Amino acid sequence: MTLRDQHLRPLKNLRLSVTDRCNLRCQYCMPEENYTWFPHEQILQFEECCQLVDVFTGLGVDKVRLTGGEPLLRRDLHILVRQLAQKAAIKDLALTTNGLLLAERVEELSAAGLGRLTISLDTLRHDRFFTLSRSKKLDQVMEGIEETKKTSLAASLKIDTVAMRGVNDDEFIDLIEFGGEHGAEVRFIEFMDVGGATTWSKDKVVTRAEMLRTFEKHYGAIEAVPKKDSAPADQYCLPDGRIFGIISSTTQPFCGNCDRSRLTADGKWFLCLYASTGIDLRAPLREGASTEELQAIIGQAWGSRDDRGAEERLTLKERGRLASASDMRKNPHLEMHTRGG
Ligand code: SAM
Ligand code: SF4
Ligand code: SF4
Repeated sequence: MTLRDQHLRPLKNLRLSVTDRCNLRCQYCMPEENYTWFPHEQILQFEECCQLVDVFTGLGVDKVRLTGGEPLLRRDLHILVRQLAQKAAIKDLALTTNGLLLAERVEELSAAGLGRLTISLDTLRHDRFFTLSRSKKLDQVMEGIEETKKTSLAASLKIDTVAMRGVNDDEFIDLIEFGGEHGAEVRFIEFMDVGGATTWSKDKVVTRAEMLRTFEKHYGAIEAVPKKDSAPADQYCLPDGRIFGIISSTTQPFCGNCDRSRLTADGKWFLCLYASTGIDLRAPLREGASTEELQAIIGQAWGSRDDRGAEERLTLKERGRLASASDMRKNPHLEMHTRGG
């Protein structure tokens, strides 16, 4: 079964956030001192995650990405991974992590059947890592990458870097080289005006065009790799055959074929990264709604989906942060670290 929204986009891809907590404080995501956390009893249990995933796969979802907050903070995450990996309807099971706890967890995640791994890493420099994330544990991320290389996840390893002018734009070549040394495809994400990016401004966005100019100057002619799927990253090939990606979410958004939705750790379903409200699936689930009843809620909402959040932001004359820190304190669902990126 394939559900279609108002722009005929199918529902294929679910980003499942397993916690709103994080062990980093990335400047562009969690810049505040204090946060409002979801109460423990509101966080979906693994069994509830699996029940909802079954509801979604029954409607055509075949890709699931575990995210957070920091997903590796969720105790026994490998158990959820194993349960999801056993579901035949899921063709692609992936995880995005900041890598801090990866060294100790990657083997069990790989053994549990995780299909693909993405590590977020914005800098290779210790001082900058501290400025960016308020953590001195860059070495732990590096250990995580080394341990990943010993597992089946090495083959699919990706490194995601948020590209920010005046912050890490002098490290792009170093990051591509680092990816090459570790067998990882590096993908540069344009800095987005979402959630905790309260200091976002247009001039801090390094555009896809600028990145390509930097790479061409350094490496020579770069070729675009023809796109095969609805993944947000566009791939490029360096003259030596190495591949890297650019996710131009800000300057050239890809809403036209967006098949993604997001489920927060407390069971709110968001149809767009920029949506101001979500649909509560936890309440009906806990009240005993049947699969058919939950599918009716989801089907109705997806059928009416008209969201093109990033494209709409592009048309604004005056563009700044999406939400203020006080808005997000009142409504933590507006945060990127609850929506999972
Ligand atoms: N904590 C995990 C991590 O950092 O990989 C998973 C959750 S995090 C919200 C998911 C992704 O969103 C990360 O790659 C992060 O860099 C990205 N992200 C967060 N805020 C962003 C922003 N303002 N612009 C672009 N990407 C952002
Ligand atoms: Fe950084 Fe991810 Fe944590 Fe946000 S959720 S602060 S991007 S590690
Ligand atoms: Fe999809 Fe919304 Fe992102 Fe556009 S802004 S790609 S519709 S999630």
